[in-house]
Amino acid sequence: MIGLLRCTFNSHSPEHYRVSWNGEHYCGTCNRCGRPIRREARGQWRLQENPSRVAQCERDARL
Ligand SMILES: [Zn+2]
Repeated sequence: MIGLLRCTFNSHSPEHYRVSWNGEHYCGTCNRCGRPIRREARGQWRLQENPSRVAQCERDARL
């Protein structure tokens, strides 16, 4: 519950083994809320709100 509260305040935590680089920034999936996120700065992950960029991350992750 504490973790989901952090997600509510847009402070997410990635599943590290699923983090990928799309040529612009790191992308991943939050291990608490399961939503797509991107890294703003070291240790700071924000919700990925641009659908086209989510698709780009997913495509690169499969390479
Ligand atoms: Zn989250």
